Amino acid sequence: MRSAALVYTPRFASYDLGPSHPLRPQRVKRTYELIRACGLLEGGRARVERPAPAGDDLLALVHAPEYIEAVRAPGEGRPVRRPFGFGLGTVDNPIVGNMFEAAALVVGGSVLAADLVMDGKVSAAFNPSGGLHHAHRARAAGFCIFNDAAIAIAHIANRGGEGVRIAYVDIDAHHGDGVQEAFYDRRDVLTISVHESGRYLFPGTGGVDEIGEGEGEGFSVNLPLSPHTGDEVYLWAFREVVGPLLDAFEPDFVVSQLGVDTHYRDPLTHMCLTTRGYAAVVAEIAPRAERWIALGGGGYDITVAPRAWTLAFAHMLEAEAPEHIPESQADHYRCEVGAGEPVPLHDAGAPAVDEDWARIAREVAEEVVEEVKRLVFPHHGIRA
Ligand SMILES: [Zn+2]
Repeated sequence: MRSAALVYTPRFASYDLGPSHPLRPQRVKRTYELIRACGLLEGGRARVERPAPAGDDLLALVHAPEYIEAVRAPGEGRPVRRPFGFGLGTVDNPIVGNMFEAAALVVGGSVLAADLVMDGKVSAAFNPSGGLHHAHRARAAGFCIFNDAAIAIAHIANRGGEGVRIAYVDIDAHHGDGVQEAFYDRRDVLTISVHESGRYLFPGTGGVDEIGEGEGEGFSVNLPLSPHTGDEVYLWAFREVVGPLLDAFEPDFVVSQLGVDTHYRDPLTHMCLTTRGYAAVVAEIAPRAERWIALGGGGYDITVAPRAWTLAFAHMLEAEAPEHIPESQADHYRCEVGAGEPVPLHDAGAPAVDEDWARIAREVAEEVVEEVKRLVFPHHGIRA
């Protein structure tokens, strides 16, 4: 039987980029409350762990000193010099006074998750506030200030020593560009990102031809899918590519970014997954992630992310999630269910399917899967 830790503190709510910003900190609190209400923290196999902010030594594993200083400045009453050069002061990444501490706390959460798994205290650890995969070495991007995912991976690689192999699986609707970039020339870290094609969505990168460089050639993998891709096509593509790669790579640790902005109701993207498809993808990762560090990510419908992450946490525990949301939480998720009726944990509704888009999504997935197999599989000794 598996054991799992949920990394959580109410202070995660301090990662707040403003009242009109799409990244709502409440979704992490709601996730904690829903996981608890569903009884997943009972029974002795799950625990809640509280993180502390990461120190500069950890931040410097990925970020440039001048960037760390720029992020720190506002909290100490100093202006950021040339903020746009650091991606700060934009609509996506406004400058807020507590941003250093809030972002360092998210990093602390993901590093704590890594340590809990490395110390053998649990087989999986989940930081739902993490997965800030767009942050670059010296630049904030896409709501992300510090790249907790890349820092956790670098920390595992350092602590694990020579020969430790880490697979990063990113199922957010957006390309995991910052993490890919941090390990682009390394073969001890396999990064895989499945996302909506950069032709239609931020950050614009993540084409199939981005496969890594030098020693790392073949160890960066991208699966850019069409807008409107639904459960069936997504799962097919995932199984064709990600399963065989993880099986061949045999990672010691799996770090997964479990963004749920692929959901059909997500306001920022154009994918068409349901929570059933999402949970099925997580179920593909679970058996291959004996030592599993799971992070949150995108997911901008506040009635979706907590349900999806609760389903994901149940997979980390190999526990049964309840069919319905307990009464105490149900009203937060009633949007597709009438008053007084029980609210299912999975979606009550379904996406509208456009036949033309469904055909395009299938054709794009087939092309992309074939191309990834041709470009990447030989590096792993897998027959296409
Ligand atoms: Zn995203």
